[in-house]
Amino acid sequence: MSNSPLTPGIVPGRLPAVAYCEHFDDHSAPLDVHEARVAADRCYFCHDAPCITACPTSIDIPLFIRQIVTGTPEAAARTIWDQNILGGMCARVCPTETLCEEACVRQTAEAKPVEIGLLQRFATDTAMAKAMQPFTRAAATGKSVAVVGAGPAGLACAHRLALHGHDVTVYERRAKAGGLNEYGIASYKTTGNFAQKEVAWLLSIGGITMNTGVALGRDITLDGLKAEHDAVFLGIGLAGVNALRAAGEDLAGVRDAVEFIAELRQAEDLATLPIGRDVVVIGGGMTAVDAAVQSKLLGAENVTIVYRRGRDRMSASGYEQDHAVKAGVRIIHNAAPLRVTGEGRAQAVEFAYTSDGPNGLTLSPETFTLKADQVFKAIGQTLTGAPDGLLISGGRIAGQGPGVWVGGDCAAGGEDLTVTAVAEGRDAAEAIHAHLTAG
Ligand SMILES: Cc1cc2nc3c(=O)[nH]c(=O)nc-3n(C[C@H](O)[C@H](O)[C@H](O)COP(=O)(O)OP(=O)(O)OC[C@H]3O[C@@H](n4cnc5c(N)ncnc54)[C@H](O)[C@@H]3O)c2cc1C
Ligand code: SF4
Repeated sequence: MSNSPLTPGIVPGRLPAVAYCEHFDDHSAPLDVHEARVAADRCYFCHDAPCITACPTSIDIPLFIRQIVTGTPEAAARTIWDQNILGGMCARVCPTETLCEEACVRQTAEAKPVEIGLLQRFATDTAMAKAMQPFTRAAATGKSVAVVGAGPAGLACAHRLALHGHDVTVYERRAKAGGLNEYGIASYKTTGNFAQKEVAWLLSIGGITMNTGVALGRDITLDGLKAEHDAVFLGIGLAGVNALRAAGEDLAGVRDAVEFIAELRQAEDLATLPIGRDVVVIGGGMTAVDAAVQSKLLGAENVTIVYRRGRDRMSASGYEQDHAVKAGVRIIHNAAPLRVTGEGRAQAVEFAYTSDGPNGLTLSPETFTLKADQVFKAIGQTLTGAPDGLLISGGRIAGQGPGVWVGGDCAAGGEDLTVTAVAEGRDAAEAIHAHLTAG
């Protein structure tokens, strides 16, 4: 180890080799058989269960928990996958504290919900470890559908279409399928190459041809896809990033947080990844939290998230924020960047305090400066590469057009969550199936 957390600048190898393995190990340990039975026994199997309503994919949660209680986790996995084919990933990455577990009656009564996320992981991991593929395709329909983007939305859509007997061709611009499951989600939430294992498992249903390295707008066109296929699904996510709109953002050392996270996710050896000593992350969502926590785990000495509004306005949940603080990240609320300063490269960021009132956000004349040799921009992603002719509203695709369906982050409405993308991809597949088999 040539460097330490105190080494100035942006350098690799700040930690001993063993620390990287420990730091990027599974964020929450999976339940064993006994723990799963104990956790499942806490469920009241509510009638009109609020946890089902709170799940964007409407998984029958009491049913799958009952199946765990009766010692049939494989049946539980089938119940989960019937609604959410990426149930294994969602069990790892869903902010359950704001979804099913927040709605759980045991959360309301005792502030201790049934551990639905961990139980879902137990069921799906158990079934996947047995290479269980419970789905059989319907007889071939002779119809073919193009799916653009192999993220959660595209994968869920492709699987459901294949299940109905259609032939699906997926076009993905990156080298690997998975979308942000592969290139975005924090490493410690999805260890052991799980994203690729889940893609391989999903594709094992058959009928899905995966074409990676093919980009809509560069290698293929929407008109071409419409001519070649009976329907098209667009699940292209949000590939662009917002600018900081602060002076000095072009200085060396300032970079996009999503790009940094993608590099981290693809790194063979985390010790080779350069990280700053003083890292400042600007933003308030999951990307900001993930960039900050992982900077700390890579050995940065000081990591600070700065968000322009208050804690309750951050899109990262309270749980995520607490996780960041526990990891040693400092969070400053109500401050906006004015300029990044430095001689040739970033050395500091100057901020103004803000107040958030009925007239919007106002900057206070009072300022402060944070030392920063590395600055991550995590202030939201934007739609890029949407084909011409589609209705765009609020920076998302709002109109589908004949023969074209849209879902996931690139589509208007809905939250930017893995589980929402899965729900939208699945529902679009059902709509496409109804269209292709009508009359
Ligand atoms: C850093 C980060 C961390 C996150 N953490 C969480 C989390 O912990 N939990 C959670 O629920 N959500 C999280 N999210 C949000 C979640 O990842 C997204 O909501 C989800 O991945 C959206 O799925 P999607 O399929 O719509 O888009 P994506 O996952 O973005 O997939 C879109 C796919 O389309 C491909 N594509 C784009 N343009 C083209 C083109 N022109 N031609 C062909 N292919 C194209 C892309 O390469 C990509 O593979 C996180 C997001 C980020 C950025
Ligand atoms: S709300 Fe909680 S207790 Fe009721 S069915 Fe759902 S998980 Fe079980």
